Amino acid sequence: MSVATARKVRLATAWLDGCSGCHMSLLDMDERILDVAAAVEVVYSPTVDAKTFPENVDVSIVEGAVSSEEDLHKIRLIRKNSKILVSLGDCGVTGNVPSMRNAFGIDQILARGYQENSHANRRPPLSVVPRLLPRVRPIHEVVKVDVYVPGCPPPADAIHYVVAELLAGRMPDAGKLTRFGM
Ligand code: SF4
Repeated sequence: MSVATARKVRLATAWLDGCSGCHMSLLDMDERILDVAAAVEVVYSPTVDAKTFPENVDVSIVEGAVSSEEDLHKIRLIRKNSKILVSLGDCGVTGNVPSMRNAFGIDQILARGYQENSHANRRPPLSVVPRLLPRVRPIHEVVKVDVYVPGCPPPADAIHYVVAELLAGRMPDAGKLTRFGM
């Protein structure tokens, strides 16, 4: 599988249930980001003003675990419209911090957040907030993942390596540059 192309590579980044730390690390590649920016068209990302996920994306880099119905819908849409899907960070790769709630039921989690620790409107929101899934799951349990980049967050060097390899038409193996919990 390759995304090497004469035109700019259509790149998307997205986050599901994550803290945005992986995106911060992605942006932390310093001046190297200029070369990346010259080679890609960012078609969807928290860093650009795009409201809907587009079709025909070459590379999608996704942070976070699948925790809610909205996450599930989003990752399926991303997978459907992406040639290569990168699972970025421990939350996406293992479930990590968001999956700590799996030891409890949804009712217990909502009661803790919206009743025991609240003094006003002491009930879970019934609208606007996406419904939680019974269990938090890593991305690869829901859709096919092509590239894994563990770390919490993965170091910027590892993320740059992965992006540069993909832009060069090669499938990266970030195993030597990052590890779980890094
Ligand atoms: Fe945040 Fe770590 Fe999860 Fe990345 S892997 S979203 S840095 S908690």
